[in-house]
Amino acid sequence: MTTPTLAVWKFTSCDGCQLTLLDCEDELLSLAGQVRIAHFLEASAAIEPGPYDISLVEGSITTAEELGRITAIREQSRVVVAIGACATHGGIQALRNLADVDEFAALVYARPEHIATLATSTAISAHVAVDYELRGCPIDRRQLLGLLDALLHGRAPDIPDTSVCTECKRRGTTCVTVADGIPCLGPVTHAGCGAICPAFHRGCYGCFGPMRNPNVGALLPILRVNGMPQPDIDRVLTTFAVTAPEYAEYTGTDRRRDEPPP
Ligand code: SF4
Ligand code: SF4
Ligand code: SF4
Repeated sequence: MTTPTLAVWKFTSCDGCQLTLLDCEDELLSLAGQVRIAHFLEASAAIEPGPYDISLVEGSITTAEELGRITAIREQSRVVVAIGACATHGGIQALRNLADVDEFAALVYARPEHIATLATSTAISAHVAVDYELRGCPIDRRQLLGLLDALLHGRAPDIPDTSVCTECKRRGTTCVTVADGIPCLGPVTHAGCGAICPAFHRGCYGCFGPMRNPNVGALLPILRVNGMPQPDIDRVLTTFAVTAPEYAEYTGTDRRRDEPPP
């Protein structure tokens, strides 16, 4: 039996999700015995040609070059996994979708005419079929290892799409909203991080994006009564998941520019 191949790809991103894979240290050694890492520029300059069994894709699509590259990667990959908020929702850089990217470029760069970029930052799934998504900014290492273990053993990965509240209860953390009036997005945020922020006595700010069927309307008055004004609610709902349709009607932002370019 041939050893499965793993490829890790970077698009527009900060590399933090790839670093999560490198941070797995001991587990990586055992993983290295089960897969052949065929493409992972963050770790090695050695590159093997495709096809690849598993492709982990970090980052969003923000340039014409990336549009072509993600199509080629999809064609060469048996399983494509989008990892992190950039890859699943366009990331923080998708804030450009709500503004004028030319204006941004003129403000930031001395020679903006040299910047070749699309007007939008979009998720990988807006362009090619994605088999699985791992949420988070960055992703959670337990979830990543669980996903790889499942794929390497021919199982479907278990990626719960319930809320952070379920994880909070499971680990026995006292609710920061109920106990201390701290605004928390946990009731609408996708599970997966293990409810890290409430465990450190701070509210969830939604870096895993929306859970399945979030009841955002029910949460808003609770956020407000706990001291989060509407502009902050708009900000927190759009920071990591600008392209999430689940939040669109609550932030009132114009999302027409989320459409992928032709
Ligand atoms: S999701 Fe966050 S940590 Fe991961 S690449 Fe994007 S910005 Fe970095
Ligand atoms: S602290 Fe936040 S995530 Fe935890 S139970 Fe309360 S609202 Fe839910
Ligand atoms: S608690 Fe919320 S903000 Fe904190 S890591 Fe989890 S999803 Fe992200």
